[in-house]
Amino acid sequence: MSDPMDKLIALTRQAGRIVVFTGAGISTESGIPDFRGPGGVWEKYDPNDFHIDRFLASAESRRRYWQRSTDMYNQILLARPNAAHQAVLALERMGKLGAVITQNIDGLHQAAGTASDQVIELHGSTLYISCLSCGSRHDRATFQPKVSPAGDAPDCAQCGGLMKPATISFGQMLIPETLARAGEETDACDLFLVIGSSLVVYPAAEFPIRAIRGGAPLAIVNRQETPHDPYATVVLNDSAGEVMSGVMAALGVEAIPVAAPLHS
Ligand code: NAD
Repeated sequence: MSDPMDKLIALTRQAGRIVVFTGAGISTESGIPDFRGPGGVWEKYDPNDFHIDRFLASAESRRRYWQRSTDMYNQILLARPNAAHQAVLALERMGKLGAVITQNIDGLHQAAGTASDQVIELHGSTLYISCLSCGSRHDRATFQPKVSPAGDAPDCAQCGGLMKPATISFGQMLIPETLARAGEETDACDLFLVIGSSLVVYPAAEFPIRAIRGGAPLAIVNRQETPHDPYATVVLNDSAGEVMSGVMAALGVEAIPVAAPLHS
């Protein structure tokens, strides 16, 4: 079998426990720009403005951070899951999903209907905020209206610490328990399916390699080439929504209606 699409369909059909590993590319068809693709976030913003050291450096840099984060948050609130998120939900309903390991902070897998406990958010979620001192965590929806248009955010009501979206910024440690669980799911899978990631951000990009070492085939659906392509059983440089709709159609799964935007 030589056609990559046929290969992906066969791998998905045979698999009993799939880890779906997603990056910003799965959400571009929902209107959220990725980082490194054409028109991505890094063409608009300086990545250093998202470094934790800069956030901690001064009130002025925090204001800039909150302004940018608020722009991205508002964009995410308007987004709705697309066909690729719905396909992941379909895999869950077929009993084939071990877990979703996502680098995304947009909550769109959960918005599509995937059970929250099946989504491992390596880089946190922008739908929550947390205190950098005491760790208290809150819904962003209730906090965001208290952030001024200039980017002034209130301090923690419990301890006076700095509040920040509950995402992992550059320079921040990933949560050890989250990494451990992602590792366990990777070790247990019999297909590791990457959808929409450049696979250049570490430690996230270690998981596909770990899956191969554990004996699972690696499938990559991504518009651009990735450094892991040479290790993959199959690579499709195409749109996540189209490819995943095609896989689901071949497996005889009816399209699941697209959910409402997050804010409704
Ligand atoms: P990335 O920007 O580095 O790579 C995205 C990849 O997806 C690119 O290679 C691009 O070619 C591909 N792509 C874009 N649209 C696609 C589509 N419709 N179908 C198939 N492929 C498509 O993103 P990454 O690999 O996730 O990098 C990791 C970082 O990006 C993480 O830290 C993550 O937190 C962050 N991020 C998340 C969001 C989000 O939550 N939606 C948005 C921007 C960045």
